[in-house]
Order: sequence, then structure tokens, then C-alpha cells
Amino acid sequence: MPNVVVVGTQWGDEGKGKVVDFLSPQVDAVVRFQGGNNAGHTLVVDGDTLVLHLLPSGVLRAGCTCVIGNGVVVDPRVLLEELAALRARGREMGPGDVVLDPHAHVIMPWHLALDRLREAALGDRRIGTTCRGIGPCYEDKVARRGIIVADLLDPVRLRDRIASTLPWKNREIVEWFGGDPLSAERIEADFLALGERIAAYVRDATAVLHAVQRRGGSILFEGAQGTFLDVDHGTYPHVTSSNTVAGAACAGSGVGPTAIDEVVGIAKAYTTRVGAGVMPSQISGALGEQLQERGGEFGATTGRPRRCGWFDAPLVRHAARINGLTRLALTKVDVLSGFAEIPVVVAYEGVDSDEFPASLTDVRPVFEVLPGWDEDLTAARSLADLPPTCRRYVARIEELVGVPIELVSVGADRDATIRTGDLFTG
Ligand code: GDP
Repeated sequence: MPNVVVVGTQWGDEGKGKVVDFLSPQVDAVVRFQGGNNAGHTLVVDGDTLVLHLLPSGVLRAGCTCVIGNGVVVDPRVLLEELAALRARGREMGPGDVVLDPHAHVIMPWHLALDRLREAALGDRRIGTTCRGIGPCYEDKVARRGIIVADLLDPVRLRDRIASTLPWKNREIVEWFGGDPLSAERIEADFLALGERIAAYVRDATAVLHAVQRRGGSILFEGAQGTFLDVDHGTYPHVTSSNTVAGAACAGSGVGPTAIDEVVGIAKAYTTRVGAGVMPSQISGALGEQLQERGGEFGATTGRPRRCGWFDAPLVRHAARINGLTRLALTKVDVLSGFAEIPVVVAYEGVDSDEFPASLTDVRPVFEVLPGWDEDLTAARSLADLPPTCRRYVARIEELVGVPIELVSVGADRDATIRTGDLFTG
């Protein structure tokens, strides 16, 4: 069985949660390797919706270990809330089901406070973060002043780490932004208590993942956000603060590159983007709103509306290159039903198709217009069930991106999926 990395090929919200949930029965572990609870993965099973922000999307499959790798930044309260929400649905996740690596960094109250204060102070120039403290937490990780999960289990170390960091943070909060100072004693007490509550889940994730491999099991690495939000490869500075590309799966979980067999890119059949930043294929006016409404394009984490555009092939082709995609999953094709014509960006004017511009601000998209279809697709279970113009649309995308399509998703529900490839079966 292969080890597979699943990543978003656009600006996130491509439907990764659904695809990971769909593939998860055949894996032994699902791993988050970057990001934090700024992700929002929506799973729909038999009409019942579950939104996850931190836990991997394997939670609904019994026997699948859910791993939060060292590359993730963790808000312990959110972890406990998600476990409680699952318990309320009758899914009790014990320490054998959830593993939290001790090297993962912890989102502290000063990260939350500074994320909000900085975004508010930027006004129109705000980055558009989810204000969950993710960026400030990664900053401290790189600056070597972060607090890791292991610190929450060691009272002496935690006190020392808070004492060496908080005075600087309070200076920024109070003197720069005019906010209220945070109390070291309060934070220490709160986070020691949280440490006790999560202690049972804390285990060397690399050991767990290597044991799965030794047994001949398979691992699914679940990316969050999308390729063009990657801090290196994305539309900087409107990016997230971690590497979202497939290469990050190794560093963020402690598994070597030789262990990865397949990389599946998730692409929405059109393009969306939440928050600030350039988007060449954006549709303005009523048509864009129509797509937003039909696709339910409102963020799972913040409820913010997502801007909508047509499928941008040069974008996804670049994602295919930098992630080393071996397969593509095309989602939300059903949302395009009812459009008489569907434009697709096939190139950027004057840009070589094997290259990608450093900035998308001035690119001029070249469109090809494909015929649309009216039929409701949600009951389709094979390509033959799709109207011919829809099949042509899917085939054209496969051709433009240059990666074979593994599955086509035609509805939010787990079952509304057309499997076209042989991943995990052949
Ligand atoms: P993720 O972060 O990539 O997992 O994406 P989100 O969960 O934020 O957003 C995807 C949204 O689309 C969710 O509400 C999903 O339930 C929904 N979704 C996923 N696949 C499909 C699909 O094929 N058709 C439709 N109509 N909705 C889908």
C-alpha cells in the first residue's frame, strides 16, 4: 500500500477534507504536518457535517491513527474541543487513536493577542489571517523562543520559558498597541492544566509512523491550506506562515522523502480565494456571486466569503510541478452545472508554459471557453454518468494540467465521488 501526500493545488478550500476522508479507510494513519487550526476541513457523511480545524480528517474511520506532527502549531484548547465534539457524536478518541508529537509548537495567549492587534493595526493592508495566532507562533518557532508541547508537561521548564518570553510580548502588546498585559502566573496555571489534559496523547509521532511503515501499513499526509499560500512558493506576502507544499510532509512529520510513494493534488473545478491577495481568474459582479452562492464559498474557519474565479490551468500546472503531483482529484464539478459556457484560463499572456511569474499582479489570463451543462451531477458514480460536455471539461483540465485524474467529486457527501484511478486498489 502506498504512502500518499494530499495537498491543495490552489489557495486552499479545495475539498481536501472530503478527499482525505474518502481515501482514509485504506490507510493506517492520517497525519497533519503543517498549519494549525487556521485550516477548516469539512466532512459530510450521510448528510451530517463535521468541521475539523486541527485534527486530521481520518477521525471518522475506526482503526485509523490520527497524528498531529511536529510541523503543526497546536492550540491545546482547540484540540480538546474537537475531541469533545467527536465524543458528543459518539466517537471517543483515545490515546491509541490520536498522537500529538512533543515537538509541535504551542499557540500561546500572546500569539492570539498579537495576531489580532497586528491585523487590526494594518487596516487596509492587513494580511487576512484567521487571527488564530498561527503566524506569531511560527515566528517564535523560527526565532527559537517558542514553547513546544513537551514544555507543557514540565512545570519548571514551562515557567522558565514563559518568564523568558512574556516580558517582550507584553512590551509589544502594551507599548506598541496599547493593549492589556498578560499575566505570567495565569498563563502558567492554565497551560499546566491543559498539559495534564493532553498528556495522554503526547507521543513521539515519528516512532508511531515508522512502526506503521515497518508493519507494511500506509500513511496519508494531509496538507492544509493550498500551494499558493505556501510561505516560499505562494503569492507572498498574502500567504500562510508554513510550507504547504508536499515536500513539507517529511519535515513536518519526521518521515524521509524515500517513504513517499504518491502525491495527490486537490483542485477545485474553478478557483476560489479567501482573504487578500491577487487572483488572475477572478470573476467580478453577479456571475462571481452566483458561483460563490452555488458553491457555498464561505470559509469553514471564519465564515468569510471566498472570491471566485474560473479554473486557472497555469496555476495548477505549476502546483503539479512543485509538489511532484502523481494524481489529481477534481472537486466541486457539480457546482458548475447550469453555466451555459465555462471559461478556463489556459495560459498567461507572454508567459512560457513551463515557467511561473514571480508576481501574478500584472498577468493577463488567456481564456478558452468550453460548453457547459445543465444536469445535476450529484448522483453520478462513473464518468459515463456525466453529460458529454462535462466529461469534455474534465478531460480538458487533465490535459492542461498534465496529471492523471484519480477522482472526480460531484457533491459534498462522501459517496458523491467518481473514482477514475486505481490509487489504493490497483
Ligand atoms: P478543505 O479545507 O480543502 O478541506 O476545504 P473546505 O472544507 O474548507 O471546503 C470545501 C467545501 O466544499 C466543504 O464545504 C465541502 O463539504 C465541500 N465539498 C467538497 N467536495 C465537494 C464537491 O464535490 N461538491 C460540492 N458541492 N461540495 C464539495
